[in-house]
Amino acid sequence: MSYPTQRLSVACPNCQQPVTINVQQVIDVGEDPTLRDRLLRGRLNVLDCPHCGVKGPMAVPLVYHDPEKPLFLAYLPNEMQMTMAQEEREIGRLANLVLNHTAPEQRKAYLITPTRVMSFNALIEKILEAEGVDIEEVRAQQASLNLIIQLAGLVDSPDKLSASLKEHGATIDSDFAMLVSALAAQSEAEGDEESAKRFAVIRDAIRDTLHIEAATPPQRSAEEQYDELIDLLLEADDEQFEAWVAANRPYLDYQFFVHLTARADKGGPDEKEELLALRKRMVSLIDAMDEEAKRSMQAASRLFQALLESDDPAALIEERAEEIDPAFFYVLSANIERAEQEKREDVVTVLNQLYQLAMGALESRMEPELRLVNQLLRTPSGPERDVLLESAVGAHGAPSIIRTIESLALQLEDQQQSDPRLIDMLYGLADKVRATPSSDTPAASTRDDVEPQKSAASSGVLIPGQTPQRGKDEPPPTIVLPK
Ligand SMILES: [Zn+2]
Repeated sequence: MSYPTQRLSVACPNCQQPVTINVQQVIDVGEDPTLRDRLLRGRLNVLDCPHCGVKGPMAVPLVYHDPEKPLFLAYLPNEMQMTMAQEEREIGRLANLVLNHTAPEQRKAYLITPTRVMSFNALIEKILEAEGVDIEEVRAQQASLNLIIQLAGLVDSPDKLSASLKEHGATIDSDFAMLVSALAAQSEAEGDEESAKRFAVIRDAIRDTLHIEAATPPQRSAEEQYDELIDLLLEADDEQFEAWVAANRPYLDYQFFVHLTARADKGGPDEKEELLALRKRMVSLIDAMDEEAKRSMQAASRLFQALLESDDPAALIEERAEEIDPAFFYVLSANIERAEQEKREDVVTVLNQLYQLAMGALESRMEPELRLVNQLLRTPSGPERDVLLESAVGAHGAPSIIRTIESLALQLEDQQQSDPRLIDMLYGLADKVRATPSSDTPAASTRDDVEPQKSAASSGVLIPGQTPQRGKDEPPPTIVLPK
């Protein structure tokens, strides 16, 4: 069973308007492993002000428990200006929640007194250290980031910027310049042109003032990359061989095989034989893969055709649900796109209905939790979604749903081109599940958890060092497309 969240009413640190947020004050990674990543990524206890758009993690008292390490830490934000007695009471209350949550035979002595950390940064460092991360390296990187944020505030006054660069000249090197370039590129990729421009100004100023160019990541030639893949494939077992050939299929072109043959010709007799055998094996696997891809595209087109001609497409999709695969969605999406280009609204409507039916069929084959997440994302927030959420928590239990949602969010966050709105929405959903009272929470601890928190309620404090970001006025995503 997971720890319920607490609803707090705080004043937005930017516009002072009241905002209600759900906060998680017990981070017990034994119960809830995804919470560690959320905390480390600044994704936990996030205030998202509906009035002014400021967004960032809030500083709230919390305890962190990792029973495996074991690690039991308590953090109280200095900004809250609690008296010593209040601090002790708050730590005691949170520590008690963990103690009461732990089965009697697993209660260890360290659970009585958590180790107090003096700042949010110290909390993060302690956690990372326990995970085996090199703290000195993290500190150096954080110092660089802080300096860049400071410099970003000076880009409108070139004199101040260059003075500040000279002042920090000792810590600025080509790696630092590379970090600035990387941030510029990242902001541009995220469509944040304002920030991209600022980082570019800093990069240019470093070049002009300090005569330091950004270190460029070593560029490898196509030949070097070919050789690297060839060496990997020579060592691969059957399963790896198939996976790597499939993953690199777009690069395995005529040029690649010219290079492979040339390398074989240059090698000694043994190497030549080995490389020619590799070529043969690759060619036959690629032929089989291409043939398979062609077959599934043809099958998808036939199914698509059959659906268009059918009087009852819903029944047909149900009957042939096993055949709904990525190739089918590819064919369907391509046709929707074409109908849209040709402004055939009638066709678009019919095809979109097919799309919904096919998604339903696909969902019916998903794991129940994943299916639910998909449904939740397609349902606009409101009473209908709340009902769906509640019944899901009843059916699967909150922890399993939270884990599914947060694993998906973390996974998407790690992928480069994920939609940030989708990620926000997933974390928001997980928070919502945490805030939904679940039947497995004993009455006593529920009462403890909903007790209003006056001390934190007066004024919101964003965690220092985390720059608040303005939200964008974009509509939320409504659907997860199958990959
Ligand atoms: Zn605000």
